[in-house]
Amino acid sequence: MNKKGHVLNAVLLSIGLGYLLEPATQLSQAQATIESIVMIAVPVTLGALFPDVDTAFGKHRKTLHNLAVLGAFVAYPYAFAGNLEYVWIGVLTHYVLDVAGSRRGIALFYPLSSTEYSLPTGVAVSSKYATVVTVIVTAGELALAAAIVYEVPQWGFELGRQTIGI
Ligand SMILES: [Zn+2]
Repeated sequence: MNKKGHVLNAVLLSIGLGYLLEPATQLSQAQATIESIVMIAVPVTLGALFPDVDTAFGKHRKTLHNLAVLGAFVAYPYAFAGNLEYVWIGVLTHYVLDVAGSRRGIALFYPLSSTEYSLPTGVAVSSKYATVVTVIVTAGELALAAAIVYEVPQWGFELGRQTIGI
């Protein structure tokens, strides 16, 4: 996907995630929701732009498009007291959009393997459907995020309840 697609994906995803984390149900809560969206949108959008730096340094869709790079961004806030928090979400959504939204795919296991993985849902980066596919992929990501935010605590609770037998 091109820069426009990655920024569109990151901004739409951030609006959705910001709302999921701080859902306003009345006007008096709107400020908290807007603050949550801004807090998420800046690091996520920066993170979403990062992987394509490998068009200039390294091999595109390999050097900065793999699970080791994503893992480093996930670990960074733990190693350095919250520094770069949420940037990993931008890196992850960049990978998801390249895998699910574009035909070429990415080398998730580079440098161990140069095999590029993609899904049949992908279209060419220059396709007139690229923006539509970007919005659909983002909607899918948000549906998954909503399921995690609203359902996983319930599953965890049920699993814990069954495990201890009450
Ligand atoms: Zn990319």
